Amino acid sequence: MRTNPYYVFIFALLTSFCFTHAQDNHKGEGPFSQLIIRGVTLINGDGSPPRGPVDIVVENNKIVSIDVVGYPGVEIKDSSRPTLKSGGKELDASGMYLLPGFIDMHGHIGGSAQGADPDYVFKLWMAHGITTVRQPSGRNALELKKQSAANEIVAPRIFEYTGFGSGSDKPISTPEMAREWVRQNAKNGADGIKFFGAEPEIMAAALDENKKLGLGSACHHAQLSVARWNVLHSARAGLTSMEHWYGLPEALFEDRTVQDYPLDYNYQNEQHRFEEAGKLWKQAAKPYSDHWNAVMNELLELDFTLDPTFNIYEASRDLHRARRAEWHEDYTLPSLWKFYEPSKVSHGSYWHFWGTEQEIEWKKNYQLWMTFVNEYKNRGGRVTAGSDSGFIYQLYGFAFIRELELLREAGFHPLEVIRSATLNGAEALGWDDKIGSIQIGKLADFVIVEENPLVNLKVLYGTGAIKLTENNEVVRVGGVKYTIKDGIIYDAKTLLEDVKAMVDTEKARTNWKLKQPGVKN
Ligand SMILES: [Zn+2]
Repeated sequence: MRTNPYYVFIFALLTSFCFTHAQDNHKGEGPFSQLIIRGVTLINGDGSPPRGPVDIVVENNKIVSIDVVGYPGVEIKDSSRPTLKSGGKELDASGMYLLPGFIDMHGHIGGSAQGADPDYVFKLWMAHGITTVRQPSGRNALELKKQSAANEIVAPRIFEYTGFGSGSDKPISTPEMAREWVRQNAKNGADGIKFFGAEPEIMAAALDENKKLGLGSACHHAQLSVARWNVLHSARAGLTSMEHWYGLPEALFEDRTVQDYPLDYNYQNEQHRFEEAGKLWKQAAKPYSDHWNAVMNELLELDFTLDPTFNIYEASRDLHRARRAEWHEDYTLPSLWKFYEPSKVSHGSYWHFWGTEQEIEWKKNYQLWMTFVNEYKNRGGRVTAGSDSGFIYQLYGFAFIRELELLREAGFHPLEVIRSATLNGAEALGWDDKIGSIQIGKLADFVIVEENPLVNLKVLYGTGAIKLTENNEVVRVGGVKYTIKDGIIYDAKTLLEDVKAMVDTEKARTNWKLKQPGVKN
């Protein structure tokens, strides 16, 4: 989310003052000189079907062997298994499923407006198997990135895409200033840039300079700039990934050059922004029309990545569902609840009068958008999974799993969903030689879960999935069991308990009670 670069600058400035480092508990176990994960069914991130039982051997933080040790339902012969060396650790994962660590390509590390500290956000991510995050602007995370890389904190590995212009004492107003800022950003140790749109000559200069340096880039094409610079302009100039969807319908316009704005529209009014956005895809070229095909094929030619973040707009099509998701009660901070409530000043709190008409427009909007994304994948395009949590009732970690469900809804096979959540993200980050799939020589980043997530992606939610037993008893199954990052084993459920304790403390401190908006009590 976010729109205005000045806002982002101020936001980054404010949040940099409120770091916390209270992360001493539940640090995880390892890395080990040897770790053998035994008897697991492997769901790799490369599109291959599940296979098991396998034993996976890790030394320190490197995968050294992946051995198929038998057949389903047949007792495993010990002679076929890799042997444990002294000082090694065995993890019995018989009957469980192992996937590559998830990569959230759109993860803001909390913020002061939300009252969400890094420790809270990181633990929610790690509890959902997210071992890598790309932060597309927000909190200055260069220090956190180093701490995570050294495993001094419980956190996913961080890729920092700095908000364009942030840290600069003046707005970037010339191409030369843009180039200078881009060079400085690389020197600072950032991994890339997050754009929100700018004057065309500034976008062109910044993208050109960034490309020369070999860094990645992402853009939320804010409506303020899309009339002159849409997704195609960005992709041609060297942008490596687009966020959300803005700027894509504009590239697909055939019979207009600007969105059909009502004449009393005001971009500072969040309901105007989100309500009119819900009518945007139907103003674009029809699916499979010549223009639609031409735009898609050019983006494919440019090896461009789509990071749709479907979940962050879900309240637009079903506000009730997003607002009352069952995890809020235990895991959403009071300050986040407050941030989400209808407001003229909180970003994304556009519920001034959000009703049936707006939701139905958005449902149709999703169908057209999903058709594009699914076909892009079918033609060989790279689609990644990003959550953009901390806005619009979407909670860190949980929302990433929701994103997987929405990719499924768009038409992805569950294996294609997992590939988006793993290998595709690694490729987009330029790290596919190190993470993103289970392969000898890659780093030991894994998700282990007791249920088969291909059958039901909901088993990846921290709250698990509801199941009725043979004895007519309602139980919860799933929830990630272990998240392994850099060869260190974290008990995912313990991380969630930590989060719940943080939330309970905040509730007690603020005397918080769940209130329905607008209901007097
Ligand atoms: Zn965002």
